[in-house]
Amino acid sequence: MTSPEPIYTLADLDTWSFPGTALAVLGHPIKHSISPQMQNAALAQMALSDPRFASWKYFRFDIAPEDLPAALKKFHALGFKGLNLTVPHKIIAFGLPEVAVTPAAALIGAVNTLLRTEHGWAGHNTDGYGLANGLKENLHHDLHGADIILLGAGGAARGAAVECLQRGCASLQIANRSRANLDTLLAQLAPLAGKIPLHGFTPNVAGSVSDPVPPSGTLVINATSAGLKPTDPLPIDLSSLPRPAGVYDMIYNPPETPLLAQARSLGIPSANGLSMLVHQGVRALEIWSGASVPVDAMRDAVVKAMAAR
Ligand code: NDP
Repeated sequence: MTSPEPIYTLADLDTWSFPGTALAVLGHPIKHSISPQMQNAALAQMALSDPRFASWKYFRFDIAPEDLPAALKKFHALGFKGLNLTVPHKIIAFGLPEVAVTPAAALIGAVNTLLRTEHGWAGHNTDGYGLANGLKENLHHDLHGADIILLGAGGAARGAAVECLQRGCASLQIANRSRANLDTLLAQLAPLAGKIPLHGFTPNVAGSVSDPVPPSGTLVINATSAGLKPTDPLPIDLSSLPRPAGVYDMIYNPPETPLLAQARSLGIPSANGLSMLVHQGVRALEIWSGASVPVDAMRDAVVKAMAAR
């Protein structure tokens, strides 16, 4: 079941007449997005104590990649307060003159949250914050001081790696299917790592989890898209992972990927990426509103939206 929130397009901006403070998520496709339910639930809760927020509303738009520059200009001219960007816009927007990227987002090479400024947009990235807080919430794991195996070398993995290194993880091993993409990411991260041990490997799903074998207490974070389909292969075999350990999968739909199913069968504490979605959204709404944001209302809304699918 899709969300009851309408999907708007670029053409709808020509007749846009919403009188309040507008926020929106832009993606292509966008029909999977449950951000409107999550953000509007928070705004409804915030309006109970601050009437200012009663006139705030969050919309969703399907914007083709080639239309993004024109769309950003129109959203700005119409007075939108803030935007979220999802696939494929996070990386495209990074290079646009309409977006002034914050130094933190510049390290990641992608922006997911735009805040209106006088002449354009300030581009933030709240995914790393979302990951760090999701891990704390679900697995009681702090990135600071943690030994981490990060799976993937795409956009999500890069954001996660930057967050791990900036928060002072104890060590970071990155595993990726394609060696070339892995090597590119390792080279980009090397200056940020400083003295933190940073290694890469190509996972051997039939063999040991990594070489050298990671210490007990290691946290495995899946930032690959392996697991979106039930027939996808395991991105890594957890059976030789020393215990205790933890597994976090950024994927939340399906709620249990093959990796999470293996973690459950091995008795390893694990969680899916729903909490990351919530906390990146919390940070985005804090940036737009400058107010304190009700996390519980947002979490309840995404759980309800996922159950309705
Ligand atoms: P990208 O397309 O940029 O990267 C995909 C990564 O997955 C690459 O490292 C790729 O490896 C790897 N991969 C793809 N298929 C397989 C496979 N069959 N086996 C092993 N590895 C594979 O995607 P993103 O980085 O943008 O997103 C990655 C995941 O993170 C997605 O599932 C997305 O839904 C999730 N995500 C969740 C968020 C949340 O809020 N919970 C936020 C952002 C992302 P290779 O280099 O070899 O091609």
